[in-house]
Amino acid sequence: MLDNLVFGDKIKLFLKNELKQEKEAGTYLLYGDRGTDLLGVATAFAMAMNCPKLKNDYCGVCEVCKKIEHGNYVDLEIIGLLQGESKVGIDKIKNVIYKASSSSYEGRKKVFIIKDIESMNKYSSNALLKIIEEPPKGTFFIFISNTLNILSTILSRSIVIKVEKPSIKDLEVTEEIYNFFMGNTKEILEWKKEKFDLDQVKSYNSLIESLKLYLEEKELKYKIDLLKGIDDYIYNIKKIKKSEKISMILDLLYVLQNEKLVENRSHERKIIEKLMYIFIIKLKNPKSTEKLLELKQNLKKNINIQGSLTLFFLNF
Ligand SMILES: [Zn+2]
Repeated sequence: MLDNLVFGDKIKLFLKNELKQEKEAGTYLLYGDRGTDLLGVATAFAMAMNCPKLKNDYCGVCEVCKKIEHGNYVDLEIIGLLQGESKVGIDKIKNVIYKASSSSYEGRKKVFIIKDIESMNKYSSNALLKIIEEPPKGTFFIFISNTLNILSTILSRSIVIKVEKPSIKDLEVTEEIYNFFMGNTKEILEWKKEKFDLDQVKSYNSLIESLKLYLEEKELKYKIDLLKGIDDYIYNIKKIKKSEKISMILDLLYVLQNEKLVENRSHERKIIEKLMYIFIIKLKNPKSTEKLLELKQNLKKNINIQGSLTLFFLNF
């Protein structure tokens, strides 16, 4: 049910209000900070539009809700960047247009959730614009993005709503746990279910190994080990020698390039950028934040990856 969403009242009221109006079609842009489970909100919205058991809400247990939750409902399409891609290509959008123009399989509402809307190329955005200008009856588009830095023509045709990160109170966890996961809603909720151990310290020496396992398995327990390793690194920062930092960087690059964990250079840069981001947030030192963010930006300026990493960690 919408009331059970852990997100604050603002988004719940917004969704309820939209559903009440029983629109024939619509285009929405949900945006929020990294780590906000925007896909979770979009999925809940899609369920509330389609659940046969409850009007303008979802039960979460019927066949339709279950299918939507698992992403295998025929009238729900979720598209976005695949690993290694940097742009949402025209083929995916053409497929959306084709499906939006044909009739719904289940006779209810067709929902297209489009992630990475900020990463559309010109052709994809133009094609998408045409369909959202006059969306076929019963068709809903939900765009999700971490930024509003997207094509203004798409922005102006969407109902834009900011999804606030759930607070510590909404999530019912301690501040310590919230900070450990850097407020990442999805991870906190999964942790609450699985209760992986957070107390046992993991040495920073195993940081790269945890990253490797996480990239291979994509499981929260490895992400937790990675976060623990980063916490331990920061805790010991004064003791860590320059030579140790350099060897960690070399290990990192070796693992990324030789264990087939990255598909191309842009994918490699993205992983390193995320890693740097975690280090900066976890350091919680406003004095160095600006400088470190600037050094993280080097990755985008085509300065070689090893050089950027060295500058970053020697200044860390
Ligand atoms: Zn249901």
